[in-house]
Amino acid sequence: MTEDEQILTTVLNCRRVDLYADPKPLTRIQQKQYLHMKSRLASGEPLQYILGFSDFMGIKLFVDERVLIPRPETEILVEVAIEKAQALKSQRPLRILDLGTGSGNVAIALAKNIPDALISTVDISYEAIELAEANARANGVHEQVRFILRDMVNFLKEQQEANCKFDLIISNPPYIPTFEIPRLPADVLKEPRMALDGGDDGLDFYREIIALSVDLLDKGSFLLLEIGDGQAEKIHAMVKASEMYDQCVFQKDYVGTDRIAVMTR
Ligand code: GLN
Repeated sequence: MTEDEQILTTVLNCRRVDLYADPKPLTRIQQKQYLHMKSRLASGEPLQYILGFSDFMGIKLFVDERVLIPRPETEILVEVAIEKAQALKSQRPLRILDLGTGSGNVAIALAKNIPDALISTVDISYEAIELAEANARANGVHEQVRFILRDMVNFLKEQQEANCKFDLIISNPPYIPTFEIPRLPADVLKEPRMALDGGDDGLDFYREIIALSVDLLDKGSFLLLEIGDGQAEKIHAMVKASEMYDQCVFQKDYVGTDRIAVMTR
């Protein structure tokens, strides 16, 4: 659908085909809504914020300026997680930890695709947790997902002290180097900075997650991370230097860039 079609189908609450098969003039209110949405788009606001929702793996999620808009590459992260969950084939429900929930996209998609998994998801933003919980409810998986408002580093340390274990830890952390942020396209700059900024070299969260996840994973369990352009080599070196994971391999995205790091404990 074009952007215009997406706006029109939202204003008219109809399908794309209805726009052409059964065209109706807009009412005055609809016309106002349409023009307001078009002017927001022209001012550089992301389309998904204007529509108020986004699609992730066929799941409808509410999104607004409180959270990062789910990206298609992150669907690959979830697909790898589903594959790994199947390989783990446990007698008991799998325990999954998602770090940085945002809209809740990863946790909700995992809950829908692995019905008996128990998922914990952490975010430092109260506003994100609020929206993610609403999304889990709207998609009928709120009983399967535990939302935790906490800084992920502190959370990992607490879990370590409490000797907690997970079968799979997954994250799409902020990974843009701070100096690159001002150069991002206007629509991306409307997204929460804390969901984008990965520190001086973009790798701050990876350092913490890779080091702190080890003790939370049993032998043979997985750590899955989405990574930024050109970060694979550095992450591989980081994992190797830690001497704590058996393996670190990468899965490419739709344009052939290493996008998902798969570490086996
Ligand atoms: N888990 C969310 C996503 O993958 C949020 C990620 C983030 O805010 N960096 O889109």
